[in-house]
Amino acid sequence: MPRVLRADCHADTALWLLEQPSLVELSGSHQDYRRISEYLDLAFLAIFLDEAEYEHELPRLFARLLLMLKADIAAHADLVEPLLWREQLEQSGADLPKLLLLGAEGASCLGADCQHLETYFQAGLRFIGLTWNYANAYAGGCGGAGGLTEAGRRLVDLCNAKGLLLDGAHLNEASFWDLAELRQYPFIVSHTCCAALQPHRRNLDDSQMLALAELDGVMGITFVPDFLGAAGDLRRLCEHIEYAVALIGSCHVALGSDFDGCEPHAELSGVQTLPRVYTELCRRGMNAADVDNVMGNSVVRLLARVLPSRARLD
Ligand SMILES: [Zn+2]
Repeated sequence: MPRVLRADCHADTALWLLEQPSLVELSGSHQDYRRISEYLDLAFLAIFLDEAEYEHELPRLFARLLLMLKADIAAHADLVEPLLWREQLEQSGADLPKLLLLGAEGASCLGADCQHLETYFQAGLRFIGLTWNYANAYAGGCGGAGGLTEAGRRLVDLCNAKGLLLDGAHLNEASFWDLAELRQYPFIVSHTCCAALQPHRRNLDDSQMLALAELDGVMGITFVPDFLGAAGDLRRLCEHIEYAVALIGSCHVALGSDFDGCEPHAELSGVQTLPRVYTELCRRGMNAADVDNVMGNSVVRLLARVLPSRARLD
């Protein structure tokens, strides 16, 4: 049995560590280690700290949270383990711990010019969003102006060399196209929807989706009601997934729930609802291979290409 069948590309669950000693069992959250281990094989956990709120404190606070998260995961090694090397994706077996990919939502935690990247990489960081909604030292967010900066280009090169996945969610159009036009790096847009169905500054238009697919990247369709539009329910989620699959192919489409970062529709109110997405896509007529790509295979293929090899380091 392959190790990863079901994956989710974005959640803010890690922030519960600011209030709770562990993520193993949380009440009031959309997921925790126990529920992840039941319903997912791979979950992205992003550390989001508001750049405007924390400013210069941000790298220090980020480092503390990353170490807390790492220690918490290590303390629950029967359930979960950090995904660090592409070789882990090749392991198979039903009893293996579920994989967590740790990352940053916004690159300000790195300092102004990637100073802390190596430290965080050693600590297990494996994906990084260039910015959140604001412009920072690296890129322009969807709430601001400006494209990729010089430091942003250096960050892309460093991530490319080290095997860190870049996340283009939250970028403004100029930064998205700067990143895409480097044409060297398959990246992810971890939580977004299709602008053709719901115009929104956080959604990708057709040309962006096609460019992402051409680079062999992946878009994670998110459960955020405002991005989905209409009722923001399971049916609407499936409409976005079907639109994306028809335009760019299922191997470039995944799920990026934004659990614990948004208030999803009651039909999608936590990781335990993911089997419904699977069932509903099948019921609506999507073929099994496409459904499997969306539910996990697309992400595995991307990570198998981008993540560092343990063998390379030995
Ligand atoms: Zn976000």
